[in-house]
Amino acid sequence: MSEIDILVSEVGPRDGLQSLSTVLPTATKLDWIRAQAAAGCREIEVGSFVPPKLLPQMADTAEVVAAALKIPDLTVAVLVPNLRGAENALATGAHKISIPFSVSETHSLKNVRRSHEQMFEEVARIAERVREVEPDRRPHFEAGLSTAFGCTLEGPVSEDLVVQSAERLMEAGVAEVGLSDTTGYANPGQVRRLIRKVRAAVGDEHVTGVHLHNTRGLGLANALAAIDEGITTIDSSLGGIGGCPFAPGASGNIVTEDLVFMLEAMGLRTGIDVEKLLEVRSILRQALPDEPLYGFVPDAGTPKGFNTDLNTAA
Ligand code: ZN
Repeated sequence: MSEIDILVSEVGPRDGLQSLSTVLPTATKLDWIRAQAAAGCREIEVGSFVPPKLLPQMADTAEVVAAALKIPDLTVAVLVPNLRGAENALATGAHKISIPFSVSETHSLKNVRRSHEQMFEEVARIAERVREVEPDRRPHFEAGLSTAFGCTLEGPVSEDLVVQSAERLMEAGVAEVGLSDTTGYANPGQVRRLIRKVRAAVGDEHVTGVHLHNTRGLGLANALAAIDEGITTIDSSLGGIGGCPFAPGASGNIVTEDLVFMLEAMGLRTGIDVEKLLEVRSILRQALPDEPLYGFVPDAGTPKGFNTDLNTAA
């Protein structure tokens, strides 16, 4: 595998699809995942181990993981809400397991019906199970600090609480914590400040990724701020699918096509071929004819001469 500078982690099959009412057939999900891996994508969050009753869109996650694990050079990531989900994830052999931890306790109680103390206990139990897996098969276990930049229920979220939560999660046994702008509230100044604070508390090597939404149009600016602070993994979704129902015209996660274009244009290597990536979009277009797909580069195309050595030389 050739070297990359920034890992673009595709979360569309999980974050994007879980917020759409359409249930994509397993074969279509796999067409998408395979095509995107073939375009050079190194990591894809392929699903979530939540009860199918809650999210029928994710009911086939075990099957999707099993097939995705056969794709060469692809890190297969999944989301788990609790120990039970983690056990299901461990049984599949997924490479990476993430658990969301809502820094806003109101959000946590509402979404997973657990207080912070209960969540720390749950995370510790999962970490124990992860440690029981032989080292060569052991997944990377991380916690995403969701609502880290603000909460739709509580409003502003205390930065000290974000830092304390990160410390407690590391003590509970996760390998890493990520910062998630679940609500699309973040701005670049806040992104810089919070990354610095959390890194100072738990160590740079334990904070390498951010999960951003583009609800208010600041997604790429926030991504760049994070990269300037040394972050090396950025989550995004193809076509920005999963837009917010309360903000028409606003994409869900930041748009993978635009993010990859920005990075490659800056000379930061992602391993992803932009033109091939743009072609993957037709799979979504066909499978989700009634859903809006976002992004500027898909409409405008890449600039003339893009991808030549002249343009990509750092
Ligand atoms: Zn998200």
